[in-house]
Amino acid sequence: MSGAPTAESVRDGYARYLMPTYAPSRTLVRGEGVRVWDVEGKEYLDFAAGVAVNTLGHAHPALRQALADQAGVLIHVSNLYAHPWQPKLAEAIVRHAGPGKCFFCNSGAEANEGLIKLARLWGHAEGRYEVISFTGSFHGRTLATLTATAQTKIQKGFDPLPEGFRYAEFNDLESARAAVTDKTVAVLVEAIQGEGGVRPADPAFLRGLRALCDERRLLLMFDEIQAGIGRTGEWFGWQHAGVRPDAFSMAKGLGGGVPIGGIWAAPAIADTFQPGNHATTFGGTPLACAAALAVIHTVEADDLVANARERGRQLREGLQSLAADVEAIECARGLGLLSGLVLGEPAAPLAAALADRGLLAIPTAGNVVRFVPPLTVTSNQIQQALDIVSAACAAVWPKSGRTA
Ligand SMILES: *Cc1c(COP(=O)(O)O)cnc(C)c1O
Repeated sequence: MSGAPTAESVRDGYARYLMPTYAPSRTLVRGEGVRVWDVEGKEYLDFAAGVAVNTLGHAHPALRQALADQAGVLIHVSNLYAHPWQPKLAEAIVRHAGPGKCFFCNSGAEANEGLIKLARLWGHAEGRYEVISFTGSFHGRTLATLTATAQTKIQKGFDPLPEGFRYAEFNDLESARAAVTDKTVAVLVEAIQGEGGVRPADPAFLRGLRALCDERRLLLMFDEIQAGIGRTGEWFGWQHAGVRPDAFSMAKGLGGGVPIGGIWAAPAIADTFQPGNHATTFGGTPLACAAALAVIHTVEADDLVANARERGRQLREGLQSLAADVEAIECARGLGLLSGLVLGEPAAPLAAALADRGLLAIPTAGNVVRFVPPLTVTSNQIQQALDIVSAACAAVWPKSGRTA
């Protein structure tokens, strides 16, 4: 590609040089705060936020500064050497998650692999290795994590799948109880299923899982990759239910767009991995840790967890009132700034109509449009987004009777 990129030249480049794993719809070239611009200069409100990744929006001054400063000091040293930023970041996570220890890696799937390996190593002497996960879950695309992901469409074609995974019905405690065998070592659950259609776990279900895990000596492990770092209006999704995990994974929102994943484990199991058991070259680089520290400090200083709670409520109230008017909308649901508009039909046409009108949102689970704006989103921007949703609904369902 030579000269200034155009939508067409970028599309050609993808077709020619990139494996066709994705079908990207728009070509984005710049962002600032909650806004992004495409290659044709069209402006969008970014309620996709890199799939719930850009916690502080685009080009946030604190994150820019932290990256620029850190790049001039130390980017990477490997884990053969200590550096100050990993313990600082782990301490910041412990501040919000409670006492425990962390391990850092590079992505969500890798974090969940870490949880699964931790559980297997912990149960190894007793011959326990099975992990129970739930229908509608999403845990990643590596072989172990796609097996934990209880969705055949994600597993299809990749068999034989690794052994040691069992499935239970989400939000059905009896089903989880029935899945436990004498080989079971852990339960892996999302406090709110993001990819699975923005489905919150029932707090009573999570408390029941905690009791089940205590009774059968299983580890209760949360996948906080999408929900964690304030998005749901608590630092971590499990805090809504008042349960304590034995371990959890995080990734998406942690680095504000800089790749980093991690796991946290409670003190009783925090020393399960010993030197030689688990490692990754890029895990917790000075650069990634500096980025995550800037994200966490900004979320703390600007009280963005409270903003996520309040702006999320505003968004869902607005979406819910649309649901009263538009027949195709079943309901709005979610926690904090992880919200879904549930339709009685496929979500892709509405998501496309939103983008045409300048609002990026993500169709998921077939019939849900997911809204995951940066935690910095303002009440004005929520209102603008609601106006766009309303206009797009009127365009997609022109005859759907306004009841008033
Ligand atoms: C995105 C996601 C993952 C996978 O993370 P990657 O960084 O894409 O590997 C796992 N679990 C949940 C809940 C996610 O939302």
